[in-house]
Amino acid sequence: MPPTPTEPTVNDWPLPYVALLPERPLAQIDLVVMHCTELPDLAMAREYGERIHYDAGTGNSGHYYLDRDGSLHRFVEPGRVAHHTRGYNPRSIGIEIVNTGRYPHWYDSRHQAMDEPYTEAQIAALIALLRHLREILPNLHFIAGHEDLDTAKVPASDDAGVFVARKRDPGPRFPWHEVLEACGLQRLVADNH
Ligand SMILES: [Zn+2]
Repeated sequence: MPPTPTEPTVNDWPLPYVALLPERPLAQIDLVVMHCTELPDLAMAREYGERIHYDAGTGNSGHYYLDRDGSLHRFVEPGRVAHHTRGYNPRSIGIEIVNTGRYPHWYDSRHQAMDEPYTEAQIAALIALLRHLREILPNLHFIAGHEDLDTAKVPASDDAGVFVARKRDPGPRFPWHEVLEACGLQRLVADNH
């Protein structure tokens, strides 16, 4: 018998519009994109995920959410395309870690630090999830930060003459070395970086 994949405990919590997201074969997925929510808690991240932004009746979310206590919540199953990283959605899985980030002054030039540390429970659960995804996704080879793939700048909200990053997540506190070493995926950086 083949070894049983080690599945992390996951709270399956599909978004209301999940059936409207396009289906895809699992072999199409070669990339994980790391995000943080830049919101105070999981409840607000859920609220944002449920908001409708598109004519298809869908919105923006990751597939998986990792709360500060290490609990793992699945909003979208891997076999559907979620809107989390423009230009990279059909090939990728989005993982969102609950972290305040720049909330609520995302584009204020004086508020760009993203200094909340990720919890040990979040990183341990993330590594277990990445290992599980490698078992179920035959072509998964790459991992990237949202900040690596979306490098657009926007005028700062406090000073239109200053530009700040539209996306900074998962940001300077994310332990890339530890995660790369543990998951065996290769970090991908956008060509225009
Ligand atoms: Zn993001």
